Amino acid sequence: MITIINPVQAMHDPDALGPMPNGRGYLDVTKRAETLLATINQLGHSVVSAPDHGMAPIAAVHDAGYLEFLRTAFDRFSENPDAGPMLRAWAFAVRQMDRKPGELMGQAGYYLSGASSPIVAGTWAASVASAHVAVESAARVLAGAAEAYALCRPSGHHAYADLAGGFCYLNNAAIAARYLADAGRKPAILDIDVHHGNGTQGIFYRDGGVFFCSVHEDPSHNYPWYAGYADETGDGAGAGANLNLPLPPGSGNAAWLAAIEQGLGAIDRFGADSLVISLGFDAQAGDPTASLRVDADGFRAAGRAIGRAGRPTVLVQEGGYLVAHLGMHLAAFLNGFLGARAGR
Ligand SMILES: [Zn+2]
Repeated sequence: MITIINPVQAMHDPDALGPMPNGRGYLDVTKRAETLLATINQLGHSVVSAPDHGMAPIAAVHDAGYLEFLRTAFDRFSENPDAGPMLRAWAFAVRQMDRKPGELMGQAGYYLSGASSPIVAGTWAASVASAHVAVESAARVLAGAAEAYALCRPSGHHAYADLAGGFCYLNNAAIAARYLADAGRKPAILDIDVHHGNGTQGIFYRDGGVFFCSVHEDPSHNYPWYAGYADETGDGAGAGANLNLPLPPGSGNAAWLAAIEQGLGAIDRFGADSLVISLGFDAQAGDPTASLRVDADGFRAAGRAIGRAGRPTVLVQEGGYLVAHLGMHLAAFLNGFLGARAGR
């Protein structure tokens, strides 16, 4: 299995700037990707750096004004000599107040949905690099690879077409799925990160060409709070192509795996010929952002179930914040996934 990386991704490092407004450090630390890459190297998989695929695959998913904001925001912010090292919004576009302003701080509250999406000097470069990791992985699968692992950071699944959120700026999984669909494939996205993939859902909600299923902790108990409920099933041409499978806090392997099997069944019925997996490990027991209790046996079984389907698959890295366990859980998932591919 080939793993795609890009060292530029590490340029997004808000944690280096100290505690966030909630008093904790920024949980999306660069050590997450380093740990996952160390595991890949230990397992002996080949690793290549993603080339620049240009902006077209990103612009196929994201709003032009949003991309221009992300590209220029830190430089505009830095024109103020008192700016500091991190742009955060202090007022947000919310219900009943959602006009788009031209001034920087107004735009920050329009395009950044919360305090978990600050912009630092390297955010744009890192986010574009992460998106290119996903595009290169999709390109490899289109060229005939059975699977590719996109070791993305920043993650993507909370980013909408025109809105950042939850450590996410560009939606890597959506960009990969759009790239496959634009090449004539019929992809499904299965999101097993513990948080609902609200951005991905938003991007494809009215699009029947890409099926989206998310298995996650009930959003009435966890981020993203305002989306991810079972009655969100798609709209217009996308009606019936969105499946949310929320799980109660405390759910362990059995409930999580049953939901994944249910999602894979729906993907079968959709007739997907390719898979994009939003591969978060934050369903792991002890993760600081959630309260599910999946362990290595659960991740191995999930890998086996997903691999058994036999479809060309892009594995896109999303969350997972108990860093000490990330490598173990990636290894377990790949053991199941690649074992099923090999008929073991
Ligand atoms: Zn997550």
